[in-house]
Amino acid sequence: MCIFCDIIEGKIPSYKVYEDEDVLAILDVSQVTYGHTLVMPKKHVENIVEADEETIEKCAKVIGKLSKQIVKKTGAVGCNILNNCGEVAGQTVHHLHFHIIPRYSENDAVEFKFKESKKQDLEEVLRTLK
Ligand code: AMP
Ligand code: ZN
Repeated sequence: MCIFCDIIEGKIPSYKVYEDEDVLAILDVSQVTYGHTLVMPKKHVENIVEADEETIEKCAKVIGKLSKQIVKKTGAVGCNILNNCGEVAGQTVHHLHFHIIPRYSENDAVEFKFKESKKQDLEEVLRTLK
């Protein structure tokens, strides 16, 4: 059972911002900021690591289109695009989704903070990633 699949199938009501054959965008119930929207593929896939390229591309296209639309319509001065992948990263609903969070001020309800971390050998990191 997946709450977003239930929304996509119309079993649970939602506030639809955008819909096409493959992608749905709805208002996040929490509205961290005014206009906070979730973009998700209609096909159930748990997270971005599990998703195929086509699914990610379809979502990316909608994220691009809606970011512009939402910032323009709300009068926001910027936005954060956020994907939580895995519980360790804060994912609570295990159906791939991307948050579009319009930003109105640095003091609104969103806080992303990188703490001071261990210095890394960037050459070594690159070898690991490639
Ligand atoms: P995440 O922590 O990235 O998995 O985000 C899940 C998001 O889904 C949270 O911001 C919730 O507020 C939102 N959410 C949960 N249930 C619903 C629902 N029925 N309709 C809209 N948004 C929801
Ligand atoms: Zn699902």
